[in-house]
Amino acid sequence: KEKLKDDALLKKSLSISKKNWNKEDFSWSKDLKKALKDVFKIDKLRELQLPTMNAVMSNEDVILIMPTGGGKSLCYQLPAVISKGITIVVSPLLSLMEDQLYGLQKHNVKARMLSAKCDKENVKIIMNALIDKKSDLKLIYVTPEYMAKSNRFMNKLQKAFEMKRLDRFAIDEVHCCSQWGHDFRPDYKFLGILKSMFPGVPILGLTATAPAKIIVDVQKMLDIQGCLVLRATFNRPNLYYEVRRKPTDKDTCLAMIENLLKNRFKDKSGIIYTTTIKDAEQLTTNLRALGLKVGCYHAMLEADYRSEVYSKWISGKYQAVVATIAFGLGIDKADVRFVIHHCISKSMENFYQESGRAGRDGKKSVSIVLYRLLDTFKLSTMVFQDKVGLQNLYKMLAYCLDQTSCRRSLIATHFEEVWTRTDCAEMCDHCRKPKESKQVNIASYCRQLYQIMTKAVQSKTRLTALKLIDAWYGKGATTLRVSSIPIPKFTRESGESVIGHLLVNGYLQEDFHFSAYSTISYLKRGPKAALALDNNHEILFNYELL
Ligand code: ADP
Ligand code: MG
Ligand code: ZN
Repeated sequence: KEKLKDDALLKKSLSISKKNWNKEDFSWSKDLKKALKDVFKIDKLRELQLPTMNAVMSNEDVILIMPTGGGKSLCYQLPAVISKGITIVVSPLLSLMEDQLYGLQKHNVKARMLSAKCDKENVKIIMNALIDKKSDLKLIYVTPEYMAKSNRFMNKLQKAFEMKRLDRFAIDEVHCCSQWGHDFRPDYKFLGILKSMFPGVPILGLTATAPAKIIVDVQKMLDIQGCLVLRATFNRPNLYYEVRRKPTDKDTCLAMIENLLKNRFKDKSGIIYTTTIKDAEQLTTNLRALGLKVGCYHAMLEADYRSEVYSKWISGKYQAVVATIAFGLGIDKADVRFVIHHCISKSMENFYQESGRAGRDGKKSVSIVLYRLLDTFKLSTMVFQDKVGLQNLYKMLAYCLDQTSCRRSLIATHFEEVWTRTDCAEMCDHCRKPKESKQVNIASYCRQLYQIMTKAVQSKTRLTALKLIDAWYGKGATTLRVSSIPIPKFTRESGESVIGHLLVNGYLQEDFHFSAYSTISYLKRGPKAALALDNNHEILFNYELL
């Protein structure tokens, strides 16, 4: 029975996806074109915007997957403007809603938002508009929490539905429905009732999160299995991707960034991302001392100060903003020429979004990640409690560890697309300068590391990655060293890469412990330890230096 249902769903989704959604002779096509120009002052639609709007206007349930900045909002804003009734937009963050309302106000589109912070007057206006045929309100933005908690609102929605004033639901950041997503939000669960409560009212889900597993989960949650899924490409052909070893010495690292800003990125605008507030402040101070014009941005700064930094950057008074990931939402600067990651991102999704702030104008721009294994552990202690936090972090680590593959193809794999080297056109470090590398078997090193770990257990010590590497290289506490293990002939950085590779592949794993003030990550044998202990087992690693 389940199988029959799946078959029927498949048939349905195939038949709707075969339709030509790009046509321009729908009954609304003229209105749509006119509103695009007159209301939104936009000349041309971007990839997938027209098909999405046509499907939405045809009352299909749709999931639209498009990278951040691609223009998802217009896909429900424009249909809302040319429809008679009301569109409900569910959005997770007040700041996102405020940005959108501000944009719509500029274009004279009537929209309001409902949240716990809303004053009574505003709530009243919105509740009345829902059931007032003469109201010109087009969009209501609401948080999922508000919907789940407000019986009054749900009751008014029902009335609007009976009056046929409820045109559609747009659910922004729809991946928040799925537990597999990188930011699952329990309140999104409530949205599962929309389909049964408002039969026939179409749902448009929007996200920049692509994996099929998540999309299927979202469809189930919203009860729109087999709906039309439109997927834009995530390839950003004008972005050059590069990963560099981050020098262990702080001054050398600083000199590297100084050099980039003074030479390669001279007179160009960019962003430097750090993990912690402390790093952001310190790096800003250090770069300023070198005569560079940079601003600092993080969540602990006053709102006024932050907007001043932002406008100095927009106007070109600052060459770069040194920021935590708090700097992101609502950035509207087309000529960002470089994004430097002073530390790796916590997931590929984050990395894609952060690096993707460069080159919105389509001109050649650069993403550089400064990678060091030990930085991973700063992040892992921050993300490990999240169900898929570590898994996501290790994918980012793998991106940096890879010594040969096209960076672009690595990103493509993550978004379940296939791009080849020709799609890259030498727009990544590995395609530009292919390295000589060979596959080496690192299983014996793995067993050596296990020996060091056994010794640590015997002396009742836990090993952080740093202590493990020290012991391996004959440094640090003598009690942790194992004299029968030769000191590696390759550099310490290569040693770090070996450990990174073992970690990403389950031969090592992190072991978290709480101290009074922080969480500490130690390393121990991973789930694949039994395999590694077999002398015939091979652990292959593509590496240039070993
Ligand atoms: P997303 O939600 O996909 O991240 P947004 O909807 O916030 O992206 O749109 C990003 C920016 O692109 C906005 O400033 C929007 O006005 C602009 N935009 C959207 N569609 C177009 C278009 N067809 N032409 C020009 N600009 C557009
Ligand atoms: Mg958006
Ligand atoms: Zn490439």
